[in-house]
Amino acid sequence: MTFIGSLKEGPWRFGEIPSGRINLLKEGVITLFGIKRLESEALFVSNEGIGTLRETSKVVFAGKERYWLLARKVNGVIRRVLLDAVNPPNSNCSVDNPCIECPVCLMLGGLSAERGKNQAVFARVKLQDLISVEPYEYDEKFRVRLNEKVLTAGEGTVPFQEVVVPPGTRFPFIVRIFKPNRFDLAAFLYANKIADALGYGNYTKLRGDVSTEWKFIADGMAFISAFDFLSQLDLGTKPDAWVKDFISSPKGVVREIISGEDCKQVEEDLISWFVDKSVKLRASSD
Ligand SMILES: [Zn+2]
Repeated sequence: MTFIGSLKEGPWRFGEIPSGRINLLKEGVITLFGIKRLESEALFVSNEGIGTLRETSKVVFAGKERYWLLARKVNGVIRRVLLDAVNPPNSNCSVDNPCIECPVCLMLGGLSAERGKNQAVFARVKLQDLISVEPYEYDEKFRVRLNEKVLTAGEGTVPFQEVVVPPGTRFPFIVRIFKPNRFDLAAFLYANKIADALGYGNYTKLRGDVSTEWKFIADGMAFISAFDFLSQLDLGTKPDAWVKDFISSPKGVVREIISGEDCKQVEEDLISWFVDKSVKLRASSD
């Protein structure tokens, strides 16, 4: 039996999670490491540009310009999926206005200033920004947007340019869950899977759907660095070799690591457990 089997099922209600500072050794952390691979073109923009050029976000990291997908963006899609899965349809919790009461807020945290509560809740699931393995390439695509007028009066075509992230681009994905229980891990793995299919792009035509391959799930605070990973890959190290090396002598406070096929099994088992659990949770809160 792995450490997953000894995780407590819950809690998933407020007031049941110990508050205050986290003792990493006592209350625990789970570190997940995976690779997200882009399956279709994507435009990851953090703000709308001016004019007719839409350009995906980039960042200079580990020695070069790379594609950049903000954790905040991924978090938003994941939250939306979870709200849908866990909360009853009449729930007053939304991505823009978290209720600070439900199981989703309990996991992902939130800030509620509008409801007269002025409350902030610590996010126990922490995602790191996704920065690509492949270097950023400025490749302008010329497109034309057609609107209704084109069909009726033959005018109104809007030419514009896009710089997108090409399919196949890979991103190391580092996630930590603090004070974890089985529900947190299962809910996260489920939501990540659905969110991947929905995509993280800004526009429906550039959906940016991805797939995640989990490389390992560690019981403890694994010190994984995207910087180190990307730098090693630039030197010719293969991702799986890097992972193997990390697992053989993990840095950080790590008790156990699940990897490879076992990771896939854990993901599968926990997702079906979550699907079953979330149906019951929704029913009980109606
Ligand atoms: Zn909520």
